[in-house]
Amino acid sequence: MGIEAAITAEGFLTTQLQRVINWSRRSSLWPMPFATACCGIELMATASSRYDLARFGAEVMRFSPRQSDLLIVAGRISVKMMPVLQRIYQQMAEPRWVISMGACASTGGVFDTYAVVQGCDQFIPVDVYVPGCPPRPEQLIEGVMAIQRIIDEEGIPPQGPDGKRVPLGIALEPTHEVRPQPVPLGLS
Ligand code: SF4
Repeated sequence: MGIEAAITAEGFLTTQLQRVINWSRRSSLWPMPFATACCGIELMATASSRYDLARFGAEVMRFSPRQSDLLIVAGRISVKMMPVLQRIYQQMAEPRWVISMGACASTGGVFDTYAVVQGCDQFIPVDVYVPGCPPRPEQLIEGVMAIQRIIDEEGIPPQGPDGKRVPLGIALEPTHEVRPQPVPLGLS
């Protein structure tokens, strides 16, 4: 089965070391979930049996930043919480990536208040924005796959001339059509 069927035991493959490293990295993303609100429930669903994030090699959720290389910000971030999120990002292993999941993480969502950060990208570099309130698990998986495609092509995150990390800022398109209201809305 698998590759053993295609190649005999004595066979060998040649490739570039960089390709093997990129393949290993993209096949073993370890997410650091920073789930503060309802988007976190969709994140849990994405990792559970129905959607099975393990198929993409990214199911090993770590609650220790030193063992993680993919930060998933899921939910609104209060001003009080922001320093904690920044500290976690700084402690994560390099090369590290960031997904902003949902309207609240990306823009503050409906919480246009003085206490909620209006987009976590003001404080940490975001590579992929996943739209929705909340995004469906398929949409989050698309975000993880976008990161995987970048790793396959680029290997490590880009850096500016000053050595600072350059956020990729990829905004995913919604994968579904908004359905009409089943019952017309109106005031009687
Ligand atoms: S985007 Fe919507 S679902 Fe996600 S945390 Fe905000 S309010 Fe909740």
